[in-house]
Amino acid sequence: MTDITIESVLQENRTFAPPTALAQAAHVSSMAQYEELYEKAKADPAGFWAELAEQELDWFKPWDKVLDWQPPFAKWFEGGKLNITYNCLDRHLTTWRKNKAAFIWEGEPGDSVTLTYAQLHRQVCKMANVLKDMGVSKGDRVGIYMPMIPEAAIAMLACARIGAAHSVVFGGFSAEALRDRLVDAKAKAVITADGGFRKDKVVHLKDAVDQALADNAVPSVQKVLVVQRTKSEVTMAAGRDIWWHEVEPDAAADCPAEPMDSEDLLFILYTSGSTGKPKGVVHTTAGYNLYTHMTLKWAFDLKDTDVYWCTADVGWITGHSYIVYGPLSNGATAVMYEGVPRPSNPGCFWDVVEKYGVTIFYTAPTAIRAFIKMGNDLPNARDLSSLRILGTVGEPINPEAWIWYHKVIGKERCPIVDTWWQTETGGFMLTPLPGATPTKPGSATKPFPGILADVVDMNGKPAGDDEGGYLVIKHPWPSMLRTVYGDEDRFRKTYWEQIEPKDGQYFYFAGDGARRDKDGYFWIMGRVDDVINVSGHRLGTMEIESALVSHPAVAESAVVGRPDDLKGEDIVAFVTLEGGATASEDLKAELKQHVVNEIGAIARPGEIRFAEALPKTRSGKIMRRLLRNLASGAEIAGDTSTLEDRTVLDKLRQGDPESA
Ligand code: ATP
Ligand code: MG
Repeated sequence: MTDITIESVLQENRTFAPPTALAQAAHVSSMAQYEELYEKAKADPAGFWAELAEQELDWFKPWDKVLDWQPPFAKWFEGGKLNITYNCLDRHLTTWRKNKAAFIWEGEPGDSVTLTYAQLHRQVCKMANVLKDMGVSKGDRVGIYMPMIPEAAIAMLACARIGAAHSVVFGGFSAEALRDRLVDAKAKAVITADGGFRKDKVVHLKDAVDQALADNAVPSVQKVLVVQRTKSEVTMAAGRDIWWHEVEPDAAADCPAEPMDSEDLLFILYTSGSTGKPKGVVHTTAGYNLYTHMTLKWAFDLKDTDVYWCTADVGWITGHSYIVYGPLSNGATAVMYEGVPRPSNPGCFWDVVEKYGVTIFYTAPTAIRAFIKMGNDLPNARDLSSLRILGTVGEPINPEAWIWYHKVIGKERCPIVDTWWQTETGGFMLTPLPGATPTKPGSATKPFPGILADVVDMNGKPAGDDEGGYLVIKHPWPSMLRTVYGDEDRFRKTYWEQIEPKDGQYFYFAGDGARRDKDGYFWIMGRVDDVINVSGHRLGTMEIESALVSHPAVAESAVVGRPDDLKGEDIVAFVTLEGGATASEDLKAELKQHVVNEIGAIARPGEIRFAEALPKTRSGKIMRRLLRNLASGAEIAGDTSTLEDRTVLDKLRQGDPESA
């Protein structure tokens, strides 16, 4: 291993201070206050979290020990008893929040429902009782395969209420992907819907469940609970399938929350599969509850007056932590939206912001890049003045996309909270606090208090200022994954043995490259697996892609390495163009030169390929490993079950529109 792990070649110097009025009223309102919290947590992480756990959560029984760290296994709040749904629901019912909106839901066809905390509690209790009648009990796993309707959240909470672990599988996944995950989790039951609306079509979820369970492929599954959403025709298997709307009216509306141990399994969630076979990430109860609660409260400065909207799907960790558990634990009002921008309604997000007066809006770079491509007229035609904070997650955000988000959506008033985290981390790890942290476009800024993040080389040695390396976490945090379900070996190897522990210091290996600048800001440089080695220079994907995206003709780009006899690897850049731009050989030459101007000759792409679209996971992340296969002319290898749209690959294989 060379000393220099990943080279940084692009610098971004713009800085944006928190708006004064927002800062004054914020939970954390200055850098001095952030530093104080950070230092306090660093000096005594267990003490820091214990104090917050006592203040912010309700417990049935206090814990005996805050942290038991037997690397790589952490236990938080052992001996404590609680139920996350008590914190998300019951405790609000004795306050004025009882009749506050918990969820404001809007369906793709335009139907809508508001559920107050009291109503949500009632529905959760009913479904919990139905699950019990179905034979589900504490410790069982339940698969959830749902569209974005309130019952998706109700199903998760109903499981947690009785101590069954949920494993949500994104409703856009295929029957095969669902089957694999149900088998891996040994699910006892499945909660689904007849169908869901997605991009003006009906997705037939129940049919996919039938297919997944056919030929007794998942012998552990005994019952299927079906919510009626699209009124599609479905086949109900006698003795196995139950309609929710038939059992709901008679189900008892009271179901006491099961007292759970702090470390009891809360859920399994399979990662999105950008890099390989999905892993069953395991999260437990207390630490997860506390961490998602605190991170949302501080990083989005969540207040009772906010209308908070996270556009993710509940099938992702973002939906788990920041649509369901984090907002409800805080007693917030959260918007839940079934739709996604689609040809019939490309401006639907801005309609929702205007209609409900959304104050906090949290989305992903893939969506932001799509908005840019669709033009400013859509957001400009709506009243977005209710917005006060914007967020992003999922991929590094290219500085130009950040600036667009800041100007066109935030009207230069709203801080942008760029949250770096993973399915495995449960909650935000690097994030600005909007009333405190000055932001820099493209940087997820600084660690949340209590998170000891670092950038190191393969030997665990810290990198210098602006030197690229591996992003690691050096102390366990409450919502850390506890293991990979059923595969402890993979847990150790993937996260804890990439960098060898030294003198009792363990390194959680995130799998992302990063650098830290002289102000202590972190810059994610892309996935370690995607690093390109050009003539001995190890380059991250993020900076080259950002350079390309900063060209006015480019909407989106992904760069990968292709084996090259002379250079080791040559850079191949896949590029999608802005609406007005036309593909040409001249433009290819211009883009290559643009990268040279922005970064230097070392990053000059050997080849530019124009594409209509890039292959992405269903959560919107670019799958560079597939492009790597394509660029080198190899067969597409590895798991493709999480790929959003297969035709994108087929089109890419046929060549770019220019050379065709
Ligand atoms: P798999 O681990 O199965 O390959 P995945 O890593 O895409 O899938 P997630 O846990 O959903 O699954 O995504 C976490 C990853 O997303 C991070 O490791 C990082 O690469 C990227 N990411 C998330 N948020 C940000 C952000 N704000 N800035 C940069 N990268 C981000
Ligand atoms: Mg990952």
